[in-house]
Amino acid sequence: MVPFLDLKAQYAEIKDEVNAAVLNVIENTQFVLGAEVKAFEDNFAAYCQADHCVALNSGTSALHMALLAMDIGPGDEVITVSSTFIATIAAIRYTGATPVFIDVDEASWTMNPELIEAAITPKTKVIMPVHLHGRVADMDAICAVAEKHGLQVIEDAAQAHGATYKGRRAGSFGAIGCFSFYPGKNLGAYGEGGAAVTSDPDLAQKMRVLRDWGQEEKHYHVVQGYNARMDGIQGAVLRVKLGHLDKWTDARRSHAAHYDELLADMPCGSPLVGNDRHVYHVYSVLVEERERVQKALGDAGVGSNIHYPIPVHMQKAHADLGYDSGDFPVSERLATQFLSLPMFAELTPEQVRETVNVLRDALND
Ligand SMILES: *Cc1c(COP(=O)(O)O)cnc(C)c1O
Repeated sequence: MVPFLDLKAQYAEIKDEVNAAVLNVIENTQFVLGAEVKAFEDNFAAYCQADHCVALNSGTSALHMALLAMDIGPGDEVITVSSTFIATIAAIRYTGATPVFIDVDEASWTMNPELIEAAITPKTKVIMPVHLHGRVADMDAICAVAEKHGLQVIEDAAQAHGATYKGRRAGSFGAIGCFSFYPGKNLGAYGEGGAAVTSDPDLAQKMRVLRDWGQEEKHYHVVQGYNARMDGIQGAVLRVKLGHLDKWTDARRSHAAHYDELLADMPCGSPLVGNDRHVYHVYSVLVEERERVQKALGDAGVGSNIHYPIPVHMQKAHADLGYDSGDFPVSERLATQFLSLPMFAELTPEQVRETVNVLRDALND
């Protein structure tokens, strides 16, 4: 049996450390924000090579607060991709702005920078690339177009904690980088959590005010704010876990290299990585006849998943945007072929081999 994800193995490793930190929060009754959250913010900003981190209650809130801090709202357009988790688009729409989709690149599976200029209109304000599966999008090219047209960049780095591109960390390229700490993410809380990192002190301050009911000081509400603060317990868990993240990421990367090696002669694609540090939130291959192959894996006790089977432009919830199947052929083909294999730090080499053996038999059937 190979589970798709096993969070219990990780807890066993850090149990004493994390239990003590959580109990400390309870004893101090610092249940919302507080010293643990502040400590985590300082550590995570440094980890992301940014000056500021604003801890929030989810990755979705991070994207939402980031857009609001830039005064994005009705009448504005945000260029993004359809090949992402639904939250990227939900956050844009919460502000009243309109998401404008472009296709992803065949090789990297992330935003195709060559398609950005054709999507720019006088209403465009922000470009929002997504570091899908833990691989940073082509940020040099994306930031160059943004600069040329006076646009802001917000990175959806919800799957890319610690990933690097040309030596720099995810979240440090755009004006704001947004992260999720949903339990299954590479850095996961014990509940919901998220953060926005930035090196712009004004944007950081605006997001701090927005997350706390728009208060600049107690009882003085200067803007329409939100309840989007991080819990003290999540701050404590994340502070402890951040200290282990690089070791866990190295383990993921070594499992990915093992998969790459064993899959090299098989007819299933994996993404172009180059010299970048892909952090493999997801290790996905591309397979035709996915339904049959996924069933064969399941029958053999090997977990798998799909990230994501339906591109956002084809979701009913966003039909009013007016897109149709056929609009983004690369995103649509990837969505029909993506198959995510078991990936977590504590996976064993035997489990990787077992997964590949079952996959090979299924592909040869
Ligand atoms: C997980 C995720 C989000 C949303 O984060 P939550 O913490 O679940 O709100 C946004 N974008 C992407 C790409 C994600 O994977």
